Amino acid sequence: MGDFWAFENRTTITATLVMKTALSIGSQASLLPTGSDLPVIKTPEGLPYIPGSSLKGVVRAYTERLLCTLDEMGLSYRDQRLWACDPLDERVRCVTATCGRECTSCERCEGDCCDDCRRCKRCMTQRAAQDGHLNDEVLTQELFELSCTACRLFGSPWLASRVAFQDAMLLNNEELLRRVEVRDGVGIDRDLGTAKPGIKYDFETVPSGARFGVRIVVENVEDWELGLLLLALEALVRGEIPLGGKTSRGLGWGELRDLRVERLRADQLLDWLTDRAQLEALPPEELIRVFRSGLSQGE
Ligand SMILES: [Zn+2]
Ligand SMILES: [Zn+2]
Ligand SMILES: [Zn+2]
Repeated sequence: MGDFWAFENRTTITATLVMKTALSIGSQASLLPTGSDLPVIKTPEGLPYIPGSSLKGVVRAYTERLLCTLDEMGLSYRDQRLWACDPLDERVRCVTATCGRECTSCERCEGDCCDDCRRCKRCMTQRAAQDGHLNDEVLTQELFELSCTACRLFGSPWLASRVAFQDAMLLNNEELLRRVEVRDGVGIDRDLGTAKPGIKYDFETVPSGARFGVRIVVENVEDWELGLLLLALEALVRGEIPLGGKTSRGLGWGELRDLRVERLRADQLLDWLTDRAQLEALPPEELIRVFRSGLSQGE
């Protein structure tokens, strides 16, 4: 793993997302209408875009499902367990904020305060403190080791994400005659969660044919981790994952095209800064092959 903060490599993944159906990317997170319209999220210049955070959410969720399947099959990557915790459920998180209710016995943690002590962030911090001051490197190392494959890649409250999704901007603004369409929605009963007749609201969509520029920057990852990420992106390439809201109504289906992967290594950094470096193009299939070929049944 080497030094945690040292630059090892930076990989840029670019692609074009072509929408096959209209896309609903509201600027309101909630799907529940509040009586007002749900406008499409736009830049101050009025250009629709897909927030990087929603792209990341979709790709992370897919990667987590993939990792859970591999884990259930007992497959690991070169003896490293491949798994994903449930980031929304504290009881099954790879690393929890505290163990037990109050974590009171952890003032001098020896690693056995309770069942959850090993994966408790508070206990880890106690264990990483020597002579009253915290050894950051020891703590980060332990946090990394205990984190699941998904948290290591996409981040957690305690680990920085190594994958950054940029906002995907609309590329064919001029081509699309009307950038945004208004549709009718049906109100949802807040208590019953069912459609409520008589309540209608408008929501905006970006029409089919819209093309968005996708850019993902990945730092300090190994080839197999890129392969794993690309497996999830392949599902987007094939149009298997919908994006945005109202996907059950057929919205949000698209395909990823012109996928390119380019890498800058640490030893090229100076050349790159002085504008002399050629970025190394990596074939996505090759990276996926690296991941697949390292999979094996644990003993
Ligand atoms: Zn604890
Ligand atoms: Zn403890
Ligand atoms: Zn996790």
